[in-house]
Amino acid sequence: MKSVLAFAAGAILAVSAAAMSFAAEDGRIVETGVGQGIDGDVVVQVEADENTIYSIEVLEQNETPGIGTVAAETLPGQMVEANSILVDNVAGATVTSTAIKDAVREALTKGGIDPSVFEVEAASEAPAEKTEETLEADVVIVGAGGAGLTAAVRATQEGAKVLVLEKMPMVGGNSLKASGGMNCAGTKFQEALDITDSGVEEFIEETMNGGHQLNDPELVRTMAENSSDAVDWLESIGAPLPKVAATGGTTHKYLHSPEDGSPVGAYLVEKLNAYAQELGIEIMLNTKATKILMEDGCAAGVLAEDDEHEYTIHAGAVILATGGFGANFDLMTSFNPSLANAVTTNHPGATGDGILMAEEVGAATVDMEQIQLHPTVYQATSMLVSEKMRSLGAILVNQEGKRFCNDLATRDAVSAAELEQTGGYAYIIFDQNLVDNNASAKDYIEKGMASSGETYEELAQNMGLDEEGVKNFAATMDTWNNAVAAGVDEEFGRNNGMDADLSTAPYYAIQIAPGIHHTMGGIKIDPQTEVINTEGEVIPGLFAAGETTGGVHGGNRIGGNAVCDFVVFGRIAGLSAAEYVSGAAQADEAA
Ligand code: ADP
Repeated sequence: MKSVLAFAAGAILAVSAAAMSFAAEDGRIVETGVGQGIDGDVVVQVEADENTIYSIEVLEQNETPGIGTVAAETLPGQMVEANSILVDNVAGATVTSTAIKDAVREALTKGGIDPSVFEVEAASEAPAEKTEETLEADVVIVGAGGAGLTAAVRATQEGAKVLVLEKMPMVGGNSLKASGGMNCAGTKFQEALDITDSGVEEFIEETMNGGHQLNDPELVRTMAENSSDAVDWLESIGAPLPKVAATGGTTHKYLHSPEDGSPVGAYLVEKLNAYAQELGIEIMLNTKATKILMEDGCAAGVLAEDDEHEYTIHAGAVILATGGFGANFDLMTSFNPSLANAVTTNHPGATGDGILMAEEVGAATVDMEQIQLHPTVYQATSMLVSEKMRSLGAILVNQEGKRFCNDLATRDAVSAAELEQTGGYAYIIFDQNLVDNNASAKDYIEKGMASSGETYEELAQNMGLDEEGVKNFAATMDTWNNAVAAGVDEEFGRNNGMDADLSTAPYYAIQIAPGIHHTMGGIKIDPQTEVINTEGEVIPGLFAAGETTGGVHGGNRIGGNAVCDFVVFGRIAGLSAAEYVSGAAQADEAA
């Protein structure tokens, strides 16, 4: 069975078919080559002769932990085994996969070997019959994103034997990409910072207002009331979130993030995954669940498959933690045809499998047409520019160099305002002070996403604004800095993210536009995460948590609530499923 993925950010990864030898043998070359990764050079060393690639070693890479690093870990071995450069890219890590292949080509060429010798597809063997295998667990969890990993840890802490299935070659799903923080109310971290006006009731009110009152009030209350416990629990497993700020669509400070300001998603996924490994939880990667098994009206396991096996997995309870459907354009456009040409920030596994499997066994869905556009997506790479940038003081301007809305209004409102501007895009503006206080901002600059300038005028010129726009932009910045000093935004009524002005050169701008971000709709659940059928009854043994569910966010999700959703409801799902299984076991004993 497969093992849990180990995270190895920036590590040197070595794979070799034969014992590594650095001195070239007869006719062999040992050369290095470079490819362009997502964040700088990927350097490989190749040992080969005219007929055979003997080894490929990744000497240098700075790829996204858990995504690009998976390609760096797996592709060299596959290429050596196939004796071919043309192995499949790792899904979700195309840039890194291509970088490794380019680097291998360069190394071969430098060594005087024609790379086209190895540009042959591995001979396609007739697809082997898949082996049928039967597995058992107390609780089977489908999906190893934030919700699935949280539920797995919690159910294991409650004594259940857990098996997690993940269809991608890596854990983390969309959760891995969450860049801001986790909204929580009434936490000890808020108390330590004297934030006394951001309690559970305010959190509920802002989440309901942000969701246009479409949210399921019971689920919202459950999330808010359990959020402080959730943050304590994260600390207990080694993932504290002590920093607190405001976020888009909220006036209060709920957004909790890691001490060093690093993106919350990668941080939590890494910590949860490490803790799951410590507990000995089995996570089967590259294994896709295809169907929920039902016995006497109760969920009793799943069918799943990988390249070589068809699994029948019997379990006392099933937790669906398969995430949303923001990468499934057929499904999204069936609810909203206008999204056909939009970019998406979602990872390729976000195809709504859990929703479709649940519907097959009678589950109800809610709010499927509620699909969120995020207003600050860098279109060339679909990379999200975090909302936290605006919480820390960044503003939005249009091609005319002017602000056009409350930059920190809800995501749907800001996206709609952007689409009305020239070209349907805008720029997010920040300064060196913000960069010095935010790891993500540094990253955007290193990735070449930002224009910069030593003066406002120089920046505006580098953004490509016309003469009038350059003048407007300088005036906009002065007006904004005065508004921050006065603590009042008379133009657009922004009332948070105004702790620091934008007066420290150099200045930066990233061109952004709305992109598909979150699917608010999904499987209907009750506050215990039990799945509800179309008759309004519980489907026994079937639980769901995270983005695959609907109702928590209503018509618009507030930044920071996805993480709160997956931690709170992931924990509840783990507990509910474990209790359900032990209750059933006790009933069996009594019978
Ligand atoms: P959440 O925030 O709700 O946890 P994520 O997107 O972070 O959502 O995680 C969902 C995970 O579920 C992803 O890693 C995705 O690849 C996985 N997944 C989706 N469908 C299946 C499936 N059919 N079988 C196994 N894993 C799946």
